[in-house]
Amino acid sequence: MSKKIILSGVKPTGRPHIGNYFGAMKQMVDLQNQFADAEKFFMIADYHALNLIQSKEEMAQFTLDLALDYLAIGIDPKQSTLFKQSDVSAHTELAWIFNTITTMPYLMRAHAFKDAEAKNKEINVGTFDYPILMAADILLYDTTLVPVGQDQKQHVEYSRDIAQKFNNVFNTETFNLPEPLIMKGVEIVSGTNGQKMSKSYNNTIPLFATREEITKAVMGIVTDSSGDVPVNVYNIHKLIKSETELKEIYDKNKGKYKILKETLIEDLDTMIKPLRKRRAELEKNTEEIKAILADGAIKAKTKANAKLLTIKKNIGVL
Ligand code: AMP
Repeated sequence: MSKKIILSGVKPTGRPHIGNYFGAMKQMVDLQNQFADAEKFFMIADYHALNLIQSKEEMAQFTLDLALDYLAIGIDPKQSTLFKQSDVSAHTELAWIFNTITTMPYLMRAHAFKDAEAKNKEINVGTFDYPILMAADILLYDTTLVPVGQDQKQHVEYSRDIAQKFNNVFNTETFNLPEPLIMKGVEIVSGTNGQKMSKSYNNTIPLFATREEITKAVMGIVTDSSGDVPVNVYNIHKLIKSETELKEIYDKNKGKYKILKETLIEDLDTMIKPLRKRRAELEKNTEEIKAILADGAIKAKTKANAKLLTIKKNIGVL
């Protein structure tokens, strides 16, 4: 079997939430620890975030924060390459090459574009072109596996299509086809109002939340009085406790929403506390974090630039 190459990314758009964690980031750490001999690349997708974050101070802060987040959940720079997308210019260069073989109607079918259009948002070219840059991110590293949440599934499918199109157009075997890895049960983690957890819906529980923040978010979970089980509380609870454990708790406290919420606060705090502690430790030495990113940039560039060279030869510009 060919070697596993794992790549995934998160946008530095502010604090990650438990939807990001259970939907994707936890899988990154699990895969890292499970597959010692795989190549692993975890990216801070700052050029993707630039569609939203257009402030120098915020971009710098969110980028450093996200590096801390990755390290605090267990991404280990000795085992994985942690890097910033903008440090590897091959990503944007390959995106251009892909632009020239991709049609507008194909990109207009992307969910993210259609959603933005349905909301009558003014869409910038970067947002429209997002799937192309993401295909470049993935294909530059000969990635075989992309751990993501359900909302990114279509983007990985686009990467496969673009890889195939390139191979056909230039009559080569330049790219293999990457597979998405979407964990069952956490494909779409729901937020405090039952909708998909997302910063843009204001329904998140931050991954590194303080006890006070957890309490505020959980107390704000929308409950209806139609049944014994508050569904929105249960759905978050099942991320951290097994169904058997929950059955006992929810059977004993039928209709007692306040007690159930207090139990969830306790369980979330127990889960988050060690992550918070580790993050606070790491935060004391930001120079070390910057050094890790600089080292990651070198490793990522070595791999990406070698691939770009092959691609350039295959299209006839070298
Ligand atoms: P982003 O913040 O868009 O860069 O997302 C980082 C990762 O988190 C991606 O793999 C997303 O698919 C995943 N993700 C974001 N929100 C959720 C959610 N509510 N449930 C599951 N996965 C999510």
